[in-house]
Amino acid sequence: MARESIPKGLKEKVLDEYDHRCAVCGGDRPHLHHIDENATNNTQENLLPLCPNCHLRDQHNPTRKVDIPKLQLFRKFKDPGILKPQFHPIYVRQTFLDDVEVNTETVDTLEKHATELIEFIASLEMGEFYSKRLKELIARPNRAFVFSLGGGHDPEFERQMNRSRQDYRQQLADNNQYAKELLIELLRYQAWANS
Ligand SMILES: [Zn+2]
Repeated sequence: MARESIPKGLKEKVLDEYDHRCAVCGGDRPHLHHIDENATNNTQENLLPLCPNCHLRDQHNPTRKVDIPKLQLFRKFKDPGILKPQFHPIYVRQTFLDDVEVNTETVDTLEKHATELIEFIASLEMGEFYSKRLKELIARPNRAFVFSLGGGHDPEFERQMNRSRQDYRQQLADNNQYAKELLIELLRYQAWANS
């Protein structure tokens, strides 16, 4: 199949967005890379300017290409720290925030992922501040209001539990983008992200 060319106007738009420089190293004369590797998907957010020297090897695992979702995160936030190997432990701990409305993970599993992410962030520079903010966004609220009368099947208890699960999933869906913004914001305080 012939490679479809990128419409000229769109090409200029993306290059202008990056000041005609490589998104990774700032080198000049970049070409446009399709992030999802579909050469017919010509949308602004699927195009990334790269120079011939930047082949998007994953710095975490140089024999592999960078994950497409990681590249999408980089396209969105443009922070080169995202491609550093030290970001990988953050990256893997935040993937659960994607598609929370539709994924098949149980709410208990989502809660576990959220706790792990919050704890990991606490160990970083400025971690106390950011883990606290993250907690407000993605931690499951206290469920002390739910009481069981005990003694077998209790429909009211079941109803409240289901409601609490739905609410938490919705909370994650509502806040996942803010949470990601915080994760990128804290990169500026990490020495490895700025070297
Ligand atoms: Zn480059």
